[in-house]
Amino acid sequence: MLDKIRVVLVNTSHPGNIGGTARAMKNMGLSKLVLVQPEEFPSGDANARASGATDILENAVVVETLEEALTGCSLVLGTSARDRRIPWPLLDPRECAQKSLEHAELGGEVALVFGREYAGLTNEELQRCQYHVHIPANPEFSSLNLATAVQVLAYEVRMDWLARAGQPTKQEKLETTAMLDAVPVTADELERFYAHLEETLVQIAFLDPAKPRHLMARLRRLYGRAGISKLEMNILRGILTETQKAARGELSQRSTD
Ligand code: SAH
Repeated sequence: MLDKIRVVLVNTSHPGNIGGTARAMKNMGLSKLVLVQPEEFPSGDANARASGATDILENAVVVETLEEALTGCSLVLGTSARDRRIPWPLLDPRECAQKSLEHAELGGEVALVFGREYAGLTNEELQRCQYHVHIPANPEFSSLNLATAVQVLAYEVRMDWLARAGQPTKQEKLETTAMLDAVPVTADELERFYAHLEETLVQIAFLDPAKPRHLMARLRRLYGRAGISKLEMNILRGILTETQKAARGELSQRSTD
């Protein structure tokens, strides 16, 4: 799923920041880097700052325009160091991660777009993005280093991805629930269960038929609330049958005493 999220750097001046971005991405499990007109690339500085993430640099795609960088993307998020440059739907990094992974889960391609070190993204570039993302930094000093900004967003993407990993997808959840619960127990099955329950409770002397004290009404209320499925009903009936067998065993043992 993380392979559906690409990082786009626009007109980066310092190759070191491209290397730092590659490292930040690889640390967080992102792999697709697209560079729009980088000033200097490939570069020794980029490789040095990438540490072991040179594979991300080797596979980086270099293009001439932002439009080319966004090919195939159905969700584009543009970052901005300044809060509310132009009125636009604004997300924080956590919301950005959520949106990105929701989108990727449905099979869409996502771009996280980062601007120039000195001038950020132009208004025109920002208007190509459905959402703007602002890291809520100190308003007196809100501009992060480019690779650091990438790190913050990539970290949130990873956290959201980890929270989803191992959790069934919406579709799987629906299927599991459907299998277990799509077949609810019928009213007459429920009545037979209550009769069986009452018989068992009398048998184990939990219920005194002479002094029932609303026990069955209370149990009906409890089981009624549970929305029991056919599968669960089989389990409950099985427990009662075994309880009765055990109780009979105990009785016959006692009678031999
Ligand atoms: N002087 C520029 C700063 C650009 S910083 C400006 O005012 O726009 C370089 C890039 O890092 C930005 O274009 C953006 O992609 C990212 N960045 C830096 N600080 C950020 C923040 N607080 N929120 C979101 N992105 C930020």
